[in-house]
Amino acid sequence: MTASHSRDYWEKAIAALSPEGRHFIDGAFRPAISGETFVRTRPMDGTAGASLARGRSEDIDAAVAAARVAFASGVWRHKEPLDKKKIMLKWADLIRANAEELAMLETLDVGKPILASLNVDVRLCADGIQYYAEMIDKQYDEIAPTGPKARALVRKVPIGVIGAITPWNYPLIIDSWKLGPAIAAGNSVVLKPAEQSSLSAIKLAALAFEAGLPAGVFNVVTGYGEETGKPLALHMDVDMIAFTGSTEVGKLIMGYAAQSNIKRVALELGGKSPIVVFADSDLDAAASAAAWGCFYNAGETCHASTRLIVERSVQDALIAKIEAVTRSDIALAHPLDPVAQIAALIEEAHMDKVLGMVDAGIAAGGRRAFGAERVLAETGGYYVSPGVIADVSNAMPIARDEIFGPVLVSIPFDTEEEALSIANDTVYGLAGAVFTRDMDRAHRFSEGIHAGTVWINTYDMSNFATPFGGFKQSGFGRDRSVHAIDKYCDYKTIWQQFG
Ligand code: NAD
Repeated sequence: MTASHSRDYWEKAIAALSPEGRHFIDGAFRPAISGETFVRTRPMDGTAGASLARGRSEDIDAAVAAARVAFASGVWRHKEPLDKKKIMLKWADLIRANAEELAMLETLDVGKPILASLNVDVRLCADGIQYYAEMIDKQYDEIAPTGPKARALVRKVPIGVIGAITPWNYPLIIDSWKLGPAIAAGNSVVLKPAEQSSLSAIKLAALAFEAGLPAGVFNVVTGYGEETGKPLALHMDVDMIAFTGSTEVGKLIMGYAAQSNIKRVALELGGKSPIVVFADSDLDAAASAAAWGCFYNAGETCHASTRLIVERSVQDALIAKIEAVTRSDIALAHPLDPVAQIAALIEEAHMDKVLGMVDAGIAAGGRRAFGAERVLAETGGYYVSPGVIADVSNAMPIARDEIFGPVLVSIPFDTEEEALSIANDTVYGLAGAVFTRDMDRAHRFSEGIHAGTVWINTYDMSNFATPFGGFKQSGFGRDRSVHAIDKYCDYKTIWQQFG
């Protein structure tokens, strides 16, 4: 999927779109039972966007009931594996066939460059659904060792009704990481997308239904976290919540599970990932990795390389290289402009938070090396230039809290022990990286950094075969890879005794 369309092409195509903003429940679009709606503001220019159903607990009840009926009936989980696979493969094909529309919906909601939506987000969403479709007819159960008079089957069975609650930064990708394995395993799903980014989820559900997924197996309820996500997480007939979002809300989700039916919980949460650069490393490669690792998606990435932990003797040289790479390769522009590599932040309030954290970091002693300022204000949209704040101490809030914008903080170190200690001095443990030519040291760091993924001399490389998720307050449970299927299954023992 590539496209060389002009900005004018995309402007016209978006003007002709009329995005669906109703829930998708039991195979049909439905308004909120209360009739209420809310309007999404477009981050690219601050204008009013789509109108969406404002879900509340009664809408969640309807979606959970539909999901439960579909699960109990066996209409999906008892289908022949080959037939299930064909339906999910068709779904992936339909995502590809509707790639431009899905990309426009994503860009309208999130403000990310249209070509990133098309060539990264939509592509990876389709690939994710395909990956799990292909696993459906390759799953085997087990026979446990017993004496000759018994046979014990260990069956891997779907859990039931899964509530998925997702964030706004990579809606299509993260939705597919949950939908793919949950549905392939035979579960029913009620998805509550972020209130900022619901359009692509509604379209995904309609495409799944068109592909042949039975009514009720995949439902979408749109709305705010407190009004829609909370009743889903508290619901007595939901068996599991698969959540991606902030650590703060992740803690609430654990509480809701405990207060209701002890539903199981999987959490993909925040990060403040270190990228450790030693003076002996290839500084050009490190600069490129640090810039792309932190600034891609305008820094709105949970595993972004937000803390540059750099050997003091090369800090200034490395920052100069990061600035050069950023200026030459990472164009910030209106998201419909095909040159844009990064574009708007999600909301005005979020932009203000990012800029406020930068100001506080500078007031606390950090030095603005370049960027990290509001730009393109004349568009009405929410744009912050990528930038570096240098000479930061790891104790400062700017080094400890998620900024979730295109702002890299640089923390100098003098010894290897100090570098590792700073890298691990965080409540998060999502990802990390080390740059060095010393392979013994690289090995020590790959073992020593306490995070779900550690890269050596690169950043943000992955594929569907590699599990993704965090240690510590970055959560637990893994998305992607064959292991994600297990998250959506239970083990059931069937013991048969013979005469
Ligand atoms: P958020 O936690 O504010 O919201 C995430 C989802 O939770 C949204 O759908 C929201 O409506 C819902 N929600 C909010 N309050 C709720 C409540 N009380 N009960 C139930 N649901 C509620 O996060 P966000 O701002 O959408 O996304 C950014 C955060 O997500 C960052 O912290 C980022 O690091 C994290 N994230 C993590 C990963 C990962 O894989 N680890 C991936 C992407 C984003």
